[in-house]
Amino acid sequence: MEKLTSNDLIQLEDKHGAHNYHPLPVVLKEGKGVHVWDVEGKRYYDFLSAYSAVNQGHCHPKIVGAMNAQAETLTLTSRAFYNDVLGVYEKFVTEYFGFDKVLPMNTGAEAVETAIKICRKWAYEKKGIPENEAKIIVCENNFHGRTTTIISFSNDPDARKNFGPYTPGFIKIPYDDTAALEAALNEDNIAGFLVEPIQGEAGVYVPSEDFLAKAKALCNEHGVLFIADEIQTGIARTGSLLAVCGTCNCENKCERQATYQEPDILILGKALSGGAYPVSAVLANDEIMNVIKPGQHGSTFGGNPVAGKVAIAALEVVTEERLMNNARELGETFRFEMQKLVEKYDLLKLVRGRGLLNAVVINDSEDSSTAWDICMKLRDNGLLAKPTHGNIIRFAPPLVMNKEQLMECVAIIDKTLSEF
Ligand SMILES: *Cc1c(COP(=O)(O)O)cnc(C)c1O
Repeated sequence: MEKLTSNDLIQLEDKHGAHNYHPLPVVLKEGKGVHVWDVEGKRYYDFLSAYSAVNQGHCHPKIVGAMNAQAETLTLTSRAFYNDVLGVYEKFVTEYFGFDKVLPMNTGAEAVETAIKICRKWAYEKKGIPENEAKIIVCENNFHGRTTTIISFSNDPDARKNFGPYTPGFIKIPYDDTAALEAALNEDNIAGFLVEPIQGEAGVYVPSEDFLAKAKALCNEHGVLFIADEIQTGIARTGSLLAVCGTCNCENKCERQATYQEPDILILGKALSGGAYPVSAVLANDEIMNVIKPGQHGSTFGGNPVAGKVAIAALEVVTEERLMNNARELGETFRFEMQKLVEKYDLLKLVRGRGLLNAVVINDSEDSSTAWDICMKLRDNGLLAKPTHGNIIRFAPPLVMNKEQLMECVAIIDKTLSEF
């Protein structure tokens, strides 16, 4: 068979695949650490990390090794039977994050759905909310996934339009608005508050320093569950184990400093597998998780032995390679260097973020193609990033990057901007 070029492969997707994405035209065939290679052999720095799934770097040998070994031994039993990995993984992951229990799922959206179901059930059975009346508070411009229920409380017209009728039971408030949260909490039948500690898809919006702590305290006061969607922000991305840890200086593991706000329900996905396999999880303590009884929720693949082995390896890599510290230190350097470029080029309006989850806002209208054009030039210069919401470019490299590589990337961004 003739070797297919990038162009051939793009044509194939265009002809045979549903057009539900608009990828940057680059066709990747290999990845190692912070780098990926296209089918013509050109090397790039990956500055998206599959939306922060590949925090541990592409094809991390420890994670791939664990996956391969388990794939040759036992891949799936379903939860109709026990397997010899699940309990070991459950002990590991609950101790790692400090919760009594975990409910294993596969994708992020499934984990969000699971959290919503647990929250509602808890509200009826523990809080005494009348049946079918429970409401969950969410934030404007949220991104929690693509299921029918989740898009019901999105306000992105692309995500929502013509997918109705929508699931009721959600109240939307502005992000980072404590007064609005307090007002919503005073309404009847509130069960939970579902929030991203930093809004990633919306364009890396970092809330004010005390928002999460205040939100958690208000939820406590009102007997409402604080549900953190850390699918993108969690697992070292923002310089701490979880973004709800705020500014805590966790060395190997979160040290639970005063700023740490333990969510009542924690949702993880993406980097829980280092990008090797779909693994997601919902964590909570017994008084909440025990509302779920046999037969009331499940997943054929959730908690399979490959997922368990992969997740243990992926979390061990985070600890062993001190990815939290690296993300925190390199993040500071990156924003410092980007700030210099903001001052140098009119094209850049500002840089914001935490750890290695950052974004630059382009000085142009939201519907302009400038951010896309910059990403195309960055690609030509060997760095892959993707615009989010028109004029924002997210920069989120794997956390295994070193300072020298980061400075090389800063030079690529500088050179690219100088070409405009
Ligand atoms: C990616 C993401 C999801 C959805 O995860 P999928 O695995 O794509 O279903 C949910 N919430 C947040 C914050 C995310 O970034």
